[in-house]
Parts: sequence; C-alpha cells; structure tokens
Amino acid sequence: MSAPRRKTRRIDVGSVAVGGAAPVSVQSMTITKTADVDATLAQIYALAGAGADIVRCTCNRQDAAEGLARIVPRSPVPIVADVHNDHRMALAALEAGVQCLRLNPGNIRNPAHIKAIASEARDRKVPVRIGVNAGSLDSKLYEKYGGKATAEALVESAKIELAYFAEVDFSDVKISVKASNVPLMIDAYRLLADTLEQESPDGVGHPLHLGVTEAGPPPAGLIKGTAGIATLLAEGIGDTIRYSLTADPVEEARAGRQLLEAMGLRERKGLDLIACPSCGRAEIDVIQVAKDAQSALEAEKLPIQVAVMGCVVNGPGEAREADIGIAAGRKRGHLFVKGKVVRVVPEDEMVQALLDEARLLVEEGVEARLAAADGGAAAEAEKDRQELLVAQGSDANASEQRVELIRKVTENAG
Ligand code: SF4
Repeated sequence: MSAPRRKTRRIDVGSVAVGGAAPVSVQSMTITKTADVDATLAQIYALAGAGADIVRCTCNRQDAAEGLARIVPRSPVPIVADVHNDHRMALAALEAGVQCLRLNPGNIRNPAHIKAIASEARDRKVPVRIGVNAGSLDSKLYEKYGGKATAEALVESAKIELAYFAEVDFSDVKISVKASNVPLMIDAYRLLADTLEQESPDGVGHPLHLGVTEAGPPPAGLIKGTAGIATLLAEGIGDTIRYSLTADPVEEARAGRQLLEAMGLRERKGLDLIACPSCGRAEIDVIQVAKDAQSALEAEKLPIQVAVMGCVVNGPGEAREADIGIAAGRKRGHLFVKGKVVRVVPEDEMVQALLDEARLLVEEGVEARLAAADGGAAAEAEKDRQELLVAQGSDANASEQRVELIRKVTENAG
C-alpha cells in the first residue's frame, strides 16, 4: 500500500498543473540543439506521444533563446527553459514565452541576477524550478558539509535560493534535489519534503520534481531512476518526475509514463493522440477535430499514435514520428503516415479518412500503406503548402518580434 500523496501547493506550468491535487506529471528533455527549431519540435512531438506532459529544452545561448521563441507557439506541451550560467538566458527565455524556467542554484550565484530573474518571472506569472544538483552544488556548501554533497547540503541550497525569491515576493516554485546516488537522492527529497512542510505557515510545501540525475544508459539507468522515483512516490512524495537516461529521450518519457501507470498514479493510455496547440497558422478548429478523431478512434481501440495538426505548412513534419496523422489546409486534409502525405481529402472528410487509414495501417503496416499512397498526393500537398506559405507569410506566429526583444534583452542585461 502506498502512502497518501503529500499535499503541496499547486503551480501551473502552462496548461499543466503541478502539485495540489493534480496528477503526477511526466517530463523529459530534448537533446537537439534548441536553435534547430524543426528537429527540436519533431522531438517534442515524439516525447509528447510517448507520454511527456512537459518538455524541457536547453537555453544556453542566444540562438537557443531565439529558437524557443519559434518553438513555444507550436509545441503540443508546455516548455521549460533550462538555464545554466548566464542569467541573461533566463530573461531571454521569458521573452521567448516559455511556460517555466529551470535554474540551478549552483550555477547562477549572483543574488542580484537571481532576484532579477525571479522578479521578471513573477511579473509574467511564469513558475520556476529550483533545480539543485549534487554534481554542481555551490562550492561553499560543499565545503561547509565536509567536502560532500549531503542531503542537508542539497536542501540548504534550495532554501537559500527560495529566500532570494521570497525577497522579491515570488513563490511560484517547484523544487528538485537530484543526485546520481540513489540513497542520497531519496534522503534529500525526504528531508526537503519535511523541511518545506515545517517551514510553511500552512504546512503545505512547494511541489517537488523527482529525478535521479545522470542515471546512465538502460537498463541500469532505468533501474536507478525507478528505485529513487518509485520509492518516494510510494511515500506520497513527488508531483512531477523525470527519468534521466543516456538514451533517446523518448525512452525517458515512456518510462515515466509506464511507472506512473504501474503505480496507479495515472490512467492507462490506449490510443496515443497528440494534437498541435494550434497557432497563427491553424486552418481548422484543432480542438474540435482532435475531439472528433479521439472519439472515433477510441471506439476502435487501435494501438497507434495519431496526430491532429492545424496546418499543412508544419504539421506533417512536426508530427513525423506519429504513425499516422492529418493536417488541414486550403479546405483540405492531408493524411500522412510517418510524416509522408499519402492522401489529400476534402476537409469535411478528414476524420473519416483518418479512421479508415488507421484501420488499414494496423492491418497492413507502415510499408504497405506508404506503398499504397495516392500517386500525386505528395505533389498536391506541397502545392497547398506553398500557397499557404505565400498567403500567411513566413512568420505567422510573430515569433520574429520576440526574437528582436530577446536580442535587446541579451544586449541590455549584461
Ligand atoms: Fe504547428 Fe501548424 Fe499546428 Fe501551428 S497550426 S502548431 S504550425 S501544426
């Protein structure tokens, strides 16, 4: 029997609630260069399809921040910017519109910089994860605790950062105290959960993000991650989780999802339906089409991943990891299998065409369905795509305005 979940405050990472009574969420991290917008979006879609509720991308350089400005409006899940040493990258990521920041207190140590970020995050209502890591602990704390990253040292690091945030009246925070050593990680989170509860006026602490850092390749990495995360979850500790594997991050997302399902903390998923968030390029009501597609496909119990995308300009490419998908444009639906357009159908037949193709895909397999593609479908699709690009311009999401702001922020915040 697991212990009841410990009560924590709720924060909102974009559309995903973390803490409070929210379901435990799954996170993963892209390993593409964030400046490579297309590759990063394709990986984000693959992670979302594998079960990630939230995805983190590194924001280590100005071109990464500019990439985030172009990624965020098109991501199917909220994006967390991972910031390391340069506080200007946190400010730039906020300008890019990210839904959360992750700061490592061991890396950004100047109190003025920390408070500048916290103030900006507070004004924009963007939460922050204080991500303490045993491998990059502030050297002063390391020395104070006898040259070792102990559970007490990790918790103290988080508390110091929290105090800076409190100075600017910002508390929209989740916390992690990760270590690659599993017993240390477990001790640190237990101590953190107790400390936050004891020090909170209402006895309710900040939500916790669980993870065993640098766990290595599977299977050992999976075992280490599971040992740490599952132990804490069984004690009622933890609001969001991430496996850190030396592997394709899709494995991280899948493992996270499977662990939560195995522990009865999330419902089992049959159909994997992913849908784009809809943005300046959308040509249809994505939410309605996704709902229609979901009810039609769920009734069939087909074990596949399906993407519903708002436009043909980017849809098939962004969701190329999905087994099958549909994208809308010029009053037509582009049906694609593994990112390749196989048929173009009238818009009002999109859902039915998707259902028919999904059945055939399950029966015949990907290769057979690609071979059965309508001749000329790809050329017709490309024509629609080019026409839309001309009609909408290349910056339908006004991302370039954000990029200009990011350039100003990084110049001015030196
Ligand atoms: Fe991506 Fe197109 Fe959907 Fe916008 S409308 S999020 S570009 S698929």
